[in-house]
Amino acid sequence: MAIQEEQDWRDIIHRCFRCGYCKFTYDFIDFNCPSYKKHRFESYSTGGRIWLIYGLMTGELHWSPSAVNVLYSCSTCGNCMENCRFDKFNHFIVDFIEAGRLEAVKRGFCPEKQKFLIERISNTKMYNPYGENNSDNEALKKEYNLSDKAEWVYYIGCTSNYRQRELRDATLRLLKKLSINFTLIDEHCCTSPLLRTGQIEIVNEFITHNISKIRNSGAIKVVTSCAGCYRTFKSDYKKFGEELGFEVYHTGELIKTLLEEGKITIKSKYERIITYHDPCHLGRHMGTYEIPREIINAIPDVKFVEMKRNKENAWCCGAGGGVKIGYPDWAIEISKERLEEAKETGATVITSMCPFCKTNLSDANDKFNMGFEIIDLIEILDQLEIEIKD
Ligand code: SF4
Ligand code: SF4
Repeated sequence: MAIQEEQDWRDIIHRCFRCGYCKFTYDFIDFNCPSYKKHRFESYSTGGRIWLIYGLMTGELHWSPSAVNVLYSCSTCGNCMENCRFDKFNHFIVDFIEAGRLEAVKRGFCPEKQKFLIERISNTKMYNPYGENNSDNEALKKEYNLSDKAEWVYYIGCTSNYRQRELRDATLRLLKKLSINFTLIDEHCCTSPLLRTGQIEIVNEFITHNISKIRNSGAIKVVTSCAGCYRTFKSDYKKFGEELGFEVYHTGELIKTLLEEGKITIKSKYERIITYHDPCHLGRHMGTYEIPREIINAIPDVKFVEMKRNKENAWCCGAGGGVKIGYPDWAIEISKERLEEAKETGATVITSMCPFCKTNLSDANDKFNMGFEIIDLIEILDQLEIEIKD
């Protein structure tokens, strides 16, 4: 059946509301929608939220701050896309939620905390959601002896450039060590925070800026260490009608390719018990599950253990979809549950491949004295001896 007619949609949404598979992991071992698990009220599940959007759009319900609060109480983790069995519909569930937010913004109902994102990103001194002065990255280019033109651009991303500089610096060192011919650009926010929160009015301008800076560098490939930037460049930019003219990689993909081609071998041991947290924007949104695990398993003497909920069924860190800025205490609560799950594995190190996950997991680790080392996989590789073959 082609989903075209309004009545088709109404029927689908009506059935969806009565279902509820998507609140769980695939094998039902636990709730896996952070929003429903917190509120235990149908409006905070996908079925309820989509029914709410339908009611608001058809005028059967009135727009109000409390209705909009339901729309924004979702980390866009994508568990519902993964675990909804209705395959004509499941791949754009999060798009529905984001479209509902877009409509809320249009009607003047954007929550105050979310507005900080666009105020800071559109500020011509900042261009980032953290309220920091924009770095044109020229000082870094000098420090790392990078020329203006190169085959690759390392797109650092706002979280690594302004909040997780250890990851940024580890990535820069690693790319140099691996003899990648790369440069940096005067990047502006990739716009992920705006897309996720429905504040899209300036998005085109930012996409055009980033794409033209990358093209001017002569690069044909872009690599980023941020799951959010990766998804935005690779999947969202084309929705705005933009042809990139370059390929987009996550750092994990670059490392995996070098390992596979036999160009690098990890030599030093890492004798730790380590578990991996799947970032939602790298995993469920982009389908990258095996690459980080293959890299971990290429490290000598590492003991890798999986958490109970992993890969497609991973529990979200709680930071995404504007939840970190909108509901900071709840964001940390979600991460705390992830850390408790990690504790069950016996791991002492939690690694991931996203600076935003690292931030939120670290905040919970500090707040609840959980005692983990939370470290990006790129930072681990940066500490190890890597043999490079010509
Ligand atoms: S995206 Fe995640 S938090 Fe949002 S409704 Fe779906 S499962 Fe719940
Ligand atoms: S999104 Fe899918 S799994 Fe979730 S309630 Fe609707 S139909 Fe069921």
